[in-house]
Amino acid sequence: MMDFRFTPEHDFWRKTVADMVKKLILPRVKEIDEGDAIPKDLWAGIGRLGYFGLRYPEKYGGMGADTVTAMIFYEELAKGSCGLAMAVIMQCLMGTHFVFRFGTEEMRQRLLVPAMRGEKIGTICFTEEQSGSDLAGTRTKAVKDGDGRDGKEGWILKGTKMWITQAPVCDFATVLATTDPSLGLKGLNFFLVERGMPGFAHGQVIHKLGAHGPVTGELVLDNVRVPKENLLGEAVGKGVFYMSEILSEIRCMTAAVGLGIAQAAFAEGLDYSRKRSAFGSPIGTYQLIRAKIARMATEMEAARLLLYSTASKLDRGENTVLEAAMTKSFATDMCLSVVDEVARIHGAMGFAMEASPQRFLRDARFLLYGGGTQEILADFIGRTIVGKLEGEKKGQ
Ligand SMILES: Cc1cc2nc3c(=O)[nH]c(=O)nc-3n(C[C@H](O)[C@H](O)[C@H](O)COP(=O)(O)OP(=O)(O)OC[C@H]3O[C@@H](n4cnc5c(N)ncnc54)[C@H](O)[C@@H]3O)c2cc1C
Repeated sequence: MMDFRFTPEHDFWRKTVADMVKKLILPRVKEIDEGDAIPKDLWAGIGRLGYFGLRYPEKYGGMGADTVTAMIFYEELAKGSCGLAMAVIMQCLMGTHFVFRFGTEEMRQRLLVPAMRGEKIGTICFTEEQSGSDLAGTRTKAVKDGDGRDGKEGWILKGTKMWITQAPVCDFATVLATTDPSLGLKGLNFFLVERGMPGFAHGQVIHKLGAHGPVTGELVLDNVRVPKENLLGEAVGKGVFYMSEILSEIRCMTAAVGLGIAQAAFAEGLDYSRKRSAFGSPIGTYQLIRAKIARMATEMEAARLLLYSTASKLDRGENTVLEAAMTKSFATDMCLSVVDEVARIHGAMGFAMEASPQRFLRDARFLLYGGGTQEILADFIGRTIVGKLEGEKKGQ
């Protein structure tokens, strides 16, 4: 069923966030990109405004917002800075979700509540050197320690995670580890680890092409002992299942970032096409340039419809695994195509480090990884559709 429209509250929210981005973030975009760091005062300011708690209940300092509201926030934020959006989203969703969902009340008060204010930083760790898309290759091990008879019962974690957003500065991390490598995906669980625990350290920093701001790198767990309540979730081996509960939201949020980057780039391309003249006329008057503008605007509109239709389905509690994969895949391709066209419209200025198109080109590539690569998404979409057709045939 296609039944979606923004409410007046959504429209007001968009304007509020857009005003905040204009005032606080746009003046600092160069500083974030060139310095490859998030200014501490900006992070604290976002925390003070309550944005990190967007999706959480008010009792933890959150706003209890719906998915559509969250997507509007991510889209508007990414119009300002992709790197900052990436860090904020980690804090709003993946970096804190499992503490909220499975943590004890004490953990929520000690970690989640300050994280909502921006005073503590959370992150999530799946990826390892030898395993990214294929989580069955996870080697970080969790070994049971103690049986509780002496009052001590917990887990010892050992392994190295890489590509971890905010690794050098995070205060706590939700880590995917295997309790039994022979079980593959069914041996995976989430564990909470905290900076300060003996054996917890950050390793090498990875210098990224784009999405500058949050520092990305390794997180090393050298026999980190955690108490039994740090196993996040009730049943052993359900980590991937728990992950699937927020996968659609993660995919939509990446699409929202793509839509934001594309719109920011498009606005600059349109402006340039009006100002730049060649052969006696503004380049925007030439049909070939107009065709680019028409295609970009159409594809952005299509991505917007797909994103908000899927987000509203999520809010209605419908199953959106297929639509969310399509949304992320389509929005990523759309964004990569828009930033490329905008750089072309800028001619040589599209190749200059002094102008914005190069930043859009670098930032857009960030969309390709988290929440599933394009190949993984295409494979999933294809398998699901073919599987459905086969199921229908059998049912005939
Ligand atoms: C900026 C950034 C931030 C990140 N932040 C985090 C973070 O905070 N926490 C975290 O855990 N991870 C993070 N990641 C890692 C990200 O989740 C992984 O990059 C992603 O899961 C893909 O894994 P990979 O890079 O190892 O690629 P691989 O899985 O090794 O894939 C390599 C290539 O093979 C293709 N491929 C793989 N399998 C198939 C298949 N079955 N069929 C066809 N093609 C296939 C892929 O599409 C890709 O093109 C981050 C990455 C980036 C770039």
